Amino acid sequence: MDSARRQAYLDAMGIQTWVSRDRLSEGQAVAGAPVVVDAGSVTPEPVVATPEPPPAPARAGGFPSEMLRAALRGEADVAPLPESPKRPPPPVESRQAVDVRPALDLDGLDWPQLAEVVAGCRNCELHSTRTQAVFGVGDQRARLMIVGEAPGADEDRQGEPFVGPAGQLLNAMLVAIGLQREQVYITNIIKCRPPSNRDPHVEEAAACRGFLDRQIALLQPELILCLGAVSAHHLLATDLPVGKLRGRPHQLPMGANVAVTYHPAYLLRKPEEKVKVWHDLQRVARLLQGERG
Ligand code: SF4
Repeated sequence: MDSARRQAYLDAMGIQTWVSRDRLSEGQAVAGAPVVVDAGSVTPEPVVATPEPPPAPARAGGFPSEMLRAALRGEADVAPLPESPKRPPPPVESRQAVDVRPALDLDGLDWPQLAEVVAGCRNCELHSTRTQAVFGVGDQRARLMIVGEAPGADEDRQGEPFVGPAGQLLNAMLVAIGLQREQVYITNIIKCRPPSNRDPHVEEAAACRGFLDRQIALLQPELILCLGAVSAHHLLATDLPVGKLRGRPHQLPMGANVAVTYHPAYLLRKPEEKVKVWHDLQRVARLLQGERG
């Protein structure tokens, strides 16, 4: 990637300076570089294959180069994705999966039919407080599917997922890996806004899950990117925190590969976590390029 394009991506992510791995390996000084990273934001996270090395102490007056190496090393030391979609999925670590099929038979529905059913759905109580159901948006042949949590106030009003500040940041995250919003498919775990933007209840997510499963079946994405804990917990039936789910391969029983990262709304509250998401996005880009990872 040429330097101008890389800088444009980093600008889009709000990361001001990128230091190449080669420069770091040559031991060139990074002191004083205005990198938007702090020691806490680059603390190595547990991964499946090789544990991250412990961070070195910060040098007085300079950036902790060992931490920066760890942050910029990419995802080469995470466990590879399964070679074949027929391979059994990795064990799910936790919460008991609930029966996720709504009472409706959705198997034969195409995109317009499914959208129509969702628009009129009363499968859970959220139908009574929504302005409208938020089905999803994007390329229905996309290779990458984005799954968020639930519609918020803006989404409920406009009928489209990820609008408002979090949606703008998501757009920037996609630009960071060379994708426009229109090139992916974006939806949520549940299609109707919970009152006061509370997290969806397990029963609500279960009632709505059949719609998401049918969207996945119609789209057949190469990769699903879960944004945030609510999305990951319901899709993967786990209680593990995002910090332990990101950087690892996951797979749904239907064969779809899944990656996990933080929700853009979380990044708006904790911008220092953007460097982790940048690594996750690099991994997503590599997976879409056919690399294992
Ligand atoms: Fe139906 Fe899902 Fe809306 Fe509940 S959240 S009413 S299951 S579309």
